Amino acid sequence: MHLHGTSRINDIGHLEIGGVDTVELAKQYGTPLFVYDVSLIREKANAFKVAFKDLGVKSQVAYASKAFSCVAMVQLANELDLSLDVVSGGELYTAMIAGFPMERVHFHGNNKSPEEIDMAVRANIGCFVVDNFYELELLKQAAIRHERKVSILLRTTPGVEAHTHDYITTGQEDSKFGFDLLSGQVDRAIEWALDCEQLELLGIHCHIGSQIFETTGFVMAVEKLYTYIESWSNSLNFDLKVLNLGGGFGIRYIEGDEPLPVGDYVKATIEAVQHHVNKFNLSMPEIWIEPGRSLVGDAGTTLYTLGSQKDIPNVRHYLSVDGGMTDNLRPALYQAQYEGILANRANDQVETKYSIAGKCCESGDMLIWDLPLPKANHKDLLAVFCTGAYGYSMANNYNRIPRPSVVFVEDGDAQLVVERETYEDLVRFDLPLNTKEKV
Ligand SMILES: *Cc1c(COP(=O)(O)O)cnc(C)c1O
Repeated sequence: MHLHGTSRINDIGHLEIGGVDTVELAKQYGTPLFVYDVSLIREKANAFKVAFKDLGVKSQVAYASKAFSCVAMVQLANELDLSLDVVSGGELYTAMIAGFPMERVHFHGNNKSPEEIDMAVRANIGCFVVDNFYELELLKQAAIRHERKVSILLRTTPGVEAHTHDYITTGQEDSKFGFDLLSGQVDRAIEWALDCEQLELLGIHCHIGSQIFETTGFVMAVEKLYTYIESWSNSLNFDLKVLNLGGGFGIRYIEGDEPLPVGDYVKATIEAVQHHVNKFNLSMPEIWIEPGRSLVGDAGTTLYTLGSQKDIPNVRHYLSVDGGMTDNLRPALYQAQYEGILANRANDQVETKYSIAGKCCESGDMLIWDLPLPKANHKDLLAVFCTGAYGYSMANNYNRIPRPSVVFVEDGDAQLVVERETYEDLVRFDLPLNTKEKV
């Protein structure tokens, strides 16, 4: 059994997180329940910042809020002195409501709407990560309307492939994101932006993938980009102030996942940048990174109550939980794998393997295959680890199942930060059918 952060088994054999007994949490807040280990999030954020500080490099560490966004999480990111990536008007609105300093907000996305762009320019956010020519034009128009100068990075696809599942790879040439490097789209975008009075081109962005366990991909991306950066410096007189290398730092979901300490990614990448800067006699840019998963992923645990079972002799033993693909879409979407334990009987002898099924009307709604557990009963509490990233943020109302609540735990205290949806919430936007008079 691998426990993350402050998670431990207490004297009565219960899983405890942040000094709080998970059995008590389930009693008080119900299940399914997302529990976040706040001190583990602090620890991760600090590790990124310390790595940059040790190397004496100017930096911004932006939390990719799509991994898990709610008002309290954004406020925690602010407390931790992180910047914030948003990819929609909704994530930006959350940041505004949370009182997050707009100058540290970066706006991403391959199809920001004119309304979203307007909203963000009005809010005076720190930077747009521009994805395409359509957006450049929209931004220019918005900047003129609001009489603002807008800072931008250009997102590029350097054609570096990180070793990961296809669905979550975005650094290949054949990607919906960013300006293509090889075909000269980036060169044209740089020229366009340098020519535009309303835009301040700070630098270049790339994001090579997700759940990455090696530094090689980042180093290759830096290498590839610098051959271009050098030529832009000569041919376009473009001085790179910011190099944003995205996120994608891996975490341990299951045995066999071997992520590096976050500082190692930072160190290898910066050394690669320094090498090229020296080689080409260029100035050292500020380095920005955008961790999502690695900040909140292993800090999150989902608690479920067990219900029905189905034993097919010599085939499989299904064990159903009171949630599923509505609170964790990743197994269905990416064949993502997880580990879990019985939170109320954590010291009991493991006896058999169960396959953990969700409660949705969908055969694909399976959370874990062949999980070793003690003999389990209905009403036992199942804890699934490492659900902090892309769990709640991808939660949905399939089968009209209300989305769970979220609690933060730290130093023996629990705080509810997102309330459970109610049935009333589910029908809140529904309007009754118009009844017509029969002739
Ligand atoms: C999703 C994403 C991130 C965060 O990725 P993680 O794998 O969660 O670290 C960072 N930058 C961009 C552009 C992204 O799309």
